[in-house]
Amino acid sequence: MNDTPKSLAQEDSQYVLHPASSITALLDQGPQMIVSAKGSTITDADGNELLDAVGGLWCVNAGYGRPELAQVVKEATEQLAYYHTFSNASNPWQVQLAKKLLQLAPSNLGKVYFGSGGSDANDTLVKIAWHYHSLRGKSTKTKVIAREQAYHGTSISTASLTGLGGFHKEYPLPLDFVLHTDCPHFYTRGLEGETEQQFCDRLIDNVAKLIEKEGADNIAAFFAEPIHAAGGIIEPPAGYYPKLKTLLKQHDILLVADEVVCGYGRLGTWFGSDQLDIEPDMLSTAKGLTSGYFPMSAAFITDEIFDVLKEGSAKIGAFSHGYTYSGHPVGCAVALANLNIIENEGLVERAKENGAYLHARLLEELGDHKNVGEIRGRGLLAGVQLVKDKVNKELPDPADKWPAKVTAMMRKNGVIVRPLPSVGTLAISPPLVITRDEIDRLVSEIKAAIDAEI
Ligand code: PLP
Repeated sequence: MNDTPKSLAQEDSQYVLHPASSITALLDQGPQMIVSAKGSTITDADGNELLDAVGGLWCVNAGYGRPELAQVVKEATEQLAYYHTFSNASNPWQVQLAKKLLQLAPSNLGKVYFGSGGSDANDTLVKIAWHYHSLRGKSTKTKVIAREQAYHGTSISTASLTGLGGFHKEYPLPLDFVLHTDCPHFYTRGLEGETEQQFCDRLIDNVAKLIEKEGADNIAAFFAEPIHAAGGIIEPPAGYYPKLKTLLKQHDILLVADEVVCGYGRLGTWFGSDQLDIEPDMLSTAKGLTSGYFPMSAAFITDEIFDVLKEGSAKIGAFSHGYTYSGHPVGCAVALANLNIIENEGLVERAKENGAYLHARLLEELGDHKNVGEIRGRGLLAGVQLVKDKVNKELPDPADKWPAKVTAMMRKNGVIVRPLPSVGTLAISPPLVITRDEIDRLVSEIKAAIDAEI
């Protein structure tokens, strides 16, 4: 291959249709050609080094350039490059990984289903919820509740669950099995004079009213990211999840934690459910499962759900759902090695400690800034809410593109954070190996870019 990364960058727009990208911007500016990475730093085709404070797409938890993961890919590929797992075929890595994951996951979860990414994990759990209810003679339980400003993926069903309008506007979505309820963001949605607890109770009451209106007999599940990621780094008020769980349980509605971002240490515990008191009936993960080194997802269910599927299997045969790459031997080997790195290097504890440091530094530098309304998140997941008016909590006009302007300036200065334009927020989700010096640099570049661009 004689092509250099630079010449390939020139040809990119000729051949590639990029995901979630503006074609006009590609034609104007060319692609952002990334050619190598190590730790928390990526390098582009011009040799510029950039501190990647988003960890790719919220996924490179163990950091870039791990030789031990490259070695595992090589060895597993040489030993068993592929074999499917349909019709009860298996491989040693899938079994070891499932066993390991169940040691780490919330204790009420008892079985794991493997796939290739977050969207397919959530698709799988929608189908399992339908299947579960149907096998129990409740086949009308098909609707699924999700929240405004949630992000659950871009397949047809998960884009429907997603509560961000941009993912619906060109399509006949959301499909009508989806019901959306309130985004639990007190800062932007609390009413004048309302306390956070009153806000929490109002939201739970709204879910109760929605269940009453639609009929509990028609509702299968409720999907929730422990902390909304792409929708703005939003954590519900204290007590929200236990109250939600009690309500859903009364109505035989399954609670699904979408931990595609929050899983595998991001919040300073192995799973967000552990620290936010969620007790999910099902839980989806991807991203940090392999730190992005292999496309892979793991979806978890309780033993109680499994027992229903087991009885169903005896009565009606196979659960007809699966992906060519479910339980991929190389993916499972990589995931196992990645979890070992996270465990052996104490990256979950490190996310907790350095996460506390990140939040403290953000508060110190930006807490009083006139254009910063709220700094939120947990562990190494943080959001900086930009505001036009701090006192009145007035958010920036999306047309002014503040988050994009700030992040473009930061990029010029060698630091990547993610703009969330619809909510006027900057999102931070670095590799869990980020150092304190890198955090200091990140925070000072955020401040400099806000000062320069707003
Ligand atoms: N769920 C959440 C919370 C996500 O953030 C994402 C992706 O960002 C997904 C699901 C979809 O994952 P994927 O892009 O791997 O399909």
